[in-house]
Amino acid sequence: MPRAWVGLGSNLGDSRKTLCRAIDELDLLAGTRLAARSHIYRTPPWGQHNQPDFFNAVAELDTILGAERLLDALLALEHRHGRVRRTRWGARTLDLDLLLYAGMVIDTPRLKVPHPRLTMRGFVLVPLAELAPELKVPGRGTVIDLLAHVDIRGIDMVRCA
Ligand code: ATP
Ligand code: CA
Ligand code: CA
Repeated sequence: MPRAWVGLGSNLGDSRKTLCRAIDELDLLAGTRLAARSHIYRTPPWGQHNQPDFFNAVAELDTILGAERLLDALLALEHRHGRVRRTRWGARTLDLDLLLYAGMVIDTPRLKVPHPRLTMRGFVLVPLAELAPELKVPGRGTVIDLLAHVDIRGIDMVRCA
């Protein structure tokens, strides 16, 4: 069964509760089983600095859904959590990014895998390295090697809500 890694982020509402719930909901998606979940981390905002701190986590899934179908399911789950898209990298109740899917490289207008900004983000690489340090990001090397090259200051593990 294909294995996928999903990055979760939230900085509006009760973010820790939202992330914990969303991880449980990923386990309930059709044809999908949660294989592992990272801790939750509080992280400084990225891209747009003038907004609340984020909470981030990564979930590892086994799924029979193809990558595009999985993206559809992730976007629907964001929507159910009240996600509204306003400014790029702005505040949000829930963001679900498909980080990696079965070692594949996908480049369509609506889906790019590996997630294009994954390699420059400590808030993604820290929780991902917890689950899969030796995992290869196609064309980019292992998660642990990538982690050595990003800024991880201000990224702190927190308790689930
Ligand atoms: P970033 O992509 O830099 O993390 P973001 O998560 O805030 O920014 P969104 O507004 O959530 O960006 O996503 C915009 C679009 O990106 C989605 O509608 C989706 O079609 C597209 N997209 C492309 N590749 C991916 C991917 N790997 N995971 C999730 N969305 C993706
Ligand atoms: Ca994102
Ligand atoms: Ca997104």
